[in-house]
Amino acid sequence: MIKATLSLFSQRDFWYKDMSFHAGNRNASRRINPFMSSGILSNSSVDHEPAILPRSEHSISRKQIDDNTLKVLYRLYRNGYRAYLVGGGVRDLLLGRKPKDFDVGTDATPAQVKKLFRNCFLVGRRFRLAHICFSRKDVVEVATFRRQPSLEELPEDPTEHFFLVQNQFGTPREDAFRRDFTINALFYDIANFSVIDHVGGLADLEARRLRVIGDPPVRFAEDPVRMLRALEFEARLDFSIDQEALEGIAACTPLIVEAAPARVREELLELFRHGVAGKVLRRADEIGLLNPMLGGYAGDDVTFALLDLLDGETASGRRCEEALALAALFVHSFLSECPVSTDLRIAEVLQTANLALAPYCNHFRIAHGIRHQAKDMLIGCYRFARGRGRKGERRFLQHPATPRALALFELWTRASGGDPEQVNIWRDALRDKDETPSDKPKTRRRPRRRRNRPKPRG
Ligand code: ATP
Ligand code: MG
Repeated sequence: MIKATLSLFSQRDFWYKDMSFHAGNRNASRRINPFMSSGILSNSSVDHEPAILPRSEHSISRKQIDDNTLKVLYRLYRNGYRAYLVGGGVRDLLLGRKPKDFDVGTDATPAQVKKLFRNCFLVGRRFRLAHICFSRKDVVEVATFRRQPSLEELPEDPTEHFFLVQNQFGTPREDAFRRDFTINALFYDIANFSVIDHVGGLADLEARRLRVIGDPPVRFAEDPVRMLRALEFEARLDFSIDQEALEGIAACTPLIVEAAPARVREELLELFRHGVAGKVLRRADEIGLLNPMLGGYAGDDVTFALLDLLDGETASGRRCEEALALAALFVHSFLSECPVSTDLRIAEVLQTANLALAPYCNHFRIAHGIRHQAKDMLIGCYRFARGRGRKGERRFLQHPATPRALALFELWTRASGGDPEQVNIWRDALRDKDETPSDKPKTRRRPRRRRNRPKPRG
């Protein structure tokens, strides 16, 4: 399917009026630079024509786009605005993959979008986006084309740069250049169903290559989360990161500590959702990105193997909640800290679990409820590792978190080369839990004897 889709445009010479954008050329990004100041597209850049792939030369069909997104695109277009499908949706459709969601780009301002749709809500304190709500779960996000601000416009505080970048309206071309990778900057135009390419993304899709738009060290310094995104797309799409981007990552690795933890956390969750956490975090560890990115977290081979197994389950349809992801990251180091031979009291085990999770949870400001669930799973794994017949077993087997903890324990056992029989024993115990005898012998409670109250005097 992917091949069929790509061959559609690989057979053609799609044209670039400015051939410097052709990504086959190793110096392509160098030659883009004349239009950019240190990797940022200059506001006064000459208007260069994009490559246009007409409908007959690509395989994107409107049938693949969901009805509500089409409705939004058409209404914008019929009201005289440009209306493009943008970002990952276009990339995935061209690759023959099912997009996670569809985003719309337009030259209508958020206020103009709001006027067109009764069900429109403007969201975002920092950057205004229009959400067209068809139901609670079905929301189409519409963003006005934006541009990179010039260097002089950037605020002094570098942590503010990302947000300012998100806020300057621009032309479609400027909007393409503010994006992270060439394959993420393609537009699908509802006016004539063509694909518009300002940055050489089509050639990169064909070559299965991840190329940064602009100068990689500059773009990574501007937003270090892009380094993690590069590893994510490399794993998700099975693409290779181009040499300049790799060098840019090597140069900018330490800058990851400047990334807002909330954004890193969001991208991390994406890794678990897409079943690539093992691959990406292992790779991040190899290049020295993991530890500073996760507030001092140290990965290890058993954990990466466990994450690979978890990713396998996600790929076969099981949703990975954040609490499970968190417990999966820490279960191996936690169990190493609590060897079962030492026969610790559960209160001590609980404290070890708290200490293991605290730095990470504080760094990412993880909600108490999620922490708590992760902690329950870790303690469950300790109980499983310790074996059956301990105090409190009946209550433990009845606890709602225990089956999830067993699923994690099973992954850990497989990843660490442990004894699978231990898992089977507990699985049987869970199945038969209602027949498990109580820890305490059942004694009939004697009715409480009434104390004779002293009779009131007088
Ligand atoms: P998916 O939704 O499948 O995970 P995506 O490419 O759509 O992948 P999103 O996080 O939804 O990723 O972002 C939408 C688009 O916004 C991207 O395709 C990219 O063009 C742009 N984008 C996202 N994050 C950045 C960033 N940090 N810097 C520049 N552009 C970005
Ligand atoms: Mg997306």
